[in-house]
Amino acid sequence: MARRVLSVASECVPLLKTGGLADVVGALPGALAGQGWTMRVLMPAYPGLAAKLKGARKVWAQKDLFGGPGRVLAGRAGGLEMLLLDAPHLYDRAGGPYGDAAGDYPDNPERFAALSWAAARIAAEGMADGWRPEIVHCHDWQAGFAPAYMRFAGTRGVGTVMSVHNIAFQGTAPADRLDTLRLPEAAFTRELLEYWGGLSSLKAGLVTADAITTVSPTYAAELMRPEFGMGLDGVIRARAGDLHGILNGIDTMVWNPETDPAIHPYNARAPAGKRRNRAALLDEFGLGEVPGPLAVVISRLTEQKGLDLLPDLLDEFTWRGGGLIVLGTGEARIEMALRHRADENPGRIAVRIGYDEALAHRLFAGGDAVLVPSRFEPCGLTQMYGLRYGTVPLVAATGGLNDTVIDANPAALDAGAATGVVFAPTDALALGQGLRRLVALHGDGPAWRRMRRNGMTARLDWTRSSRAYADLYESRAP
Ligand code: ADP
Repeated sequence: MARRVLSVASECVPLLKTGGLADVVGALPGALAGQGWTMRVLMPAYPGLAAKLKGARKVWAQKDLFGGPGRVLAGRAGGLEMLLLDAPHLYDRAGGPYGDAAGDYPDNPERFAALSWAAARIAAEGMADGWRPEIVHCHDWQAGFAPAYMRFAGTRGVGTVMSVHNIAFQGTAPADRLDTLRLPEAAFTRELLEYWGGLSSLKAGLVTADAITTVSPTYAAELMRPEFGMGLDGVIRARAGDLHGILNGIDTMVWNPETDPAIHPYNARAPAGKRRNRAALLDEFGLGEVPGPLAVVISRLTEQKGLDLLPDLLDEFTWRGGGLIVLGTGEARIEMALRHRADENPGRIAVRIGYDEALAHRLFAGGDAVLVPSRFEPCGLTQMYGLRYGTVPLVAATGGLNDTVIDANPAALDAGAATGVVFAPTDALALGQGLRRLVALHGDGPAWRRMRRNGMTARLDWTRSSRAYADLYESRAP
């Protein structure tokens, strides 16, 4: 019989997405099915979601779930077995899943403690249809209290895994919420719940779960350092032996240059179609001839992404023959600086402020290189889309970027293994040098074609990582 895992998260494709977390949570059940694990995903029933469930039935209920009644509806959506926690006093709100125009909802600690509570009760008692998990897999701070509730209730026979998708979000709350969050006073110690004088649901999960994962091996190592751990590095260091870095995969059906309906198709054996996509892109953006590499950026325009470093380097990059198209939104100062450069050099630089999925596909197909100069990057998806589309990634040596791109150093070039340009540290000096190397490599036809082919044939799907999750579940299941 297939093994059973309950995945607990605040968002999941196809029901609700605000970031990469939803992609991963939505991809895992399909990936794990091939490894002999069935996964049900528990998330809040935000407005309108229950109506999207096929065959909805009530499988769990509690009269007082943090101030009102709560029930869990099981059903199918987009091929997934979903569990929606229906608790109108917590989730039926006009704003977004985490807040509205006034900011984060003040009762967010309770809203997601309720999600964690329901997960912990389901782990302890099972559901009305007899289903009870062997593993509870918790994603980010919203699910962090679940392993803690299970520990304090003395629940046995169910393993727990806590996954960190971005350590910047920690689910903090003042210490006086201990009682309303249904946490025992005696556990308010530095070893357990206390976090710089208050509470953090992420810390609670990190100290009480049986195992910890994060989304790349390099990010796992970085999280143990103060520069990356954002206050939790000590907690993670203390659990180094239980920490696993498991890379995210990408959806290789959606991101496939052979079948992508948004582009002229091509593949690694017949890359000629890529030239047509490039020409169409130059045309669409009114750019002139670009003799060097046509670079693209598809990103949130934020300091995390290192894109504040780019504007000052563009004079030299275009002088050397390069061109640039940027698609993104974010911090006003970065948007402005990039727009300014495009105004000064309209034949070589174009900037589109906005979010546009179809254009993202055209940019990956038509670009020669994709730039990802992040200061930190837990895993990162765009460098992998670049590889898949033969769009050579230029990336900072951090997090998942470091684990997915092979730098074109002399040894890798000799071995025929290079897939991109990797630079460090994330500053203007190193990024400038990376751009110079990119131009030089682009000018070396055979080397460039080899890199492109290597990237297009690299394994980027979930095969290896789903096996790693399955092995981890196996080792932590009762
Ligand atoms: P993060 O989750 O930190 O923003 P990732 O690289 O993990 O970074 O994921 C970003 C995702 O959002 C990718 O799928 C990328 O293609 C997409 N994306 C980012 N900005 C845009 C945009 N302006 N238009 C379309 N897609 C975008």
